[in-house]
Amino acid sequence: MTLSQLKKHFSDSLLEIYTDSESVFIFHIFAEHILDLNNFQQKQSADLELSDENINKFQQIISELKTGKPYLQILGETEFYGMKIFVDENVLIPRPETEELLEIAIQKISNLKSQISNLKIIDIGTGSGIIPLVLKKHFPEAEVTSVDFSKKALKTAKKNADFHQLEINFIHADYLSLELNKNFDVIISNPPYIGIDEENEIADSVKEFEPKMALFSPTSDALIFYRRIIEDSKKHLNEKGLLFLEINQKLGLETLELYNDFSKAELIKDLSGNDRFIFGIK
Ligand code: GLN
Repeated sequence: MTLSQLKKHFSDSLLEIYTDSESVFIFHIFAEHILDLNNFQQKQSADLELSDENINKFQQIISELKTGKPYLQILGETEFYGMKIFVDENVLIPRPETEELLEIAIQKISNLKSQISNLKIIDIGTGSGIIPLVLKKHFPEAEVTSVDFSKKALKTAKKNADFHQLEINFIHADYLSLELNKNFDVIISNPPYIGIDEENEIADSVKEFEPKMALFSPTSDALIFYRRIIEDSKKHLNEKGLLFLEINQKLGLETLELYNDFSKAELIKDLSGNDRFIFGIK
């Protein structure tokens, strides 16, 4: 089978799940990964005869994709903020909104950094580790702590930290009952914020394949993490410390209200125009 025949077979097999252009996009990613050919080289190699081993690899990928599994989970890696990040079924696939959150955070922390030398940052609900890793990369002298309830997610986060040789202080704990024992200059979090009542609005591929624990609030209160974070901000965020939160777009004002005591707290929209972030200064 040639590369162009395989490409056609790939799209034809996935007609029920992906449009033609989606299949082509996904095919190119796997072809680059398995055959080590970039897009341009793939175009030049339409008649390349493939080995049985490689054909089998693609067959395996097609069967997995047919189950509705997200292609990045099958690939096992993605790119986030210019960094290679390993992903699996135990962590949320990084979302573009979280890149926006980090863009805001990096800009604001840079201002704070000129005033504080040994910055202490805590990230709540780390998942694959994207938030602490990007921050540690940008602020190498900062002491970055990260909490997650899932041991399996932490294993993936550590793998990512090792890959990038970044030192993060990972803590395995249930944040909702964790007593912090020190103060921080920055609190940042993208906690599970989807309400249980919103479950039917979430795509099946997300619900079936991504960790529910990372998506849905553990109780009927969709703001439970945000309430706990406000308690910790009172006790463990230094004066003038910064807060960065990714939030449920439907609960913008309700979430913002929790941070009334901050000297500044603002709601920021994401690129799609939804209320998505809170930035606060204590
Ligand atoms: N933004 C994610 C989604 O819509 C949810 C992330 C979260 O709950 N923190 O899938």
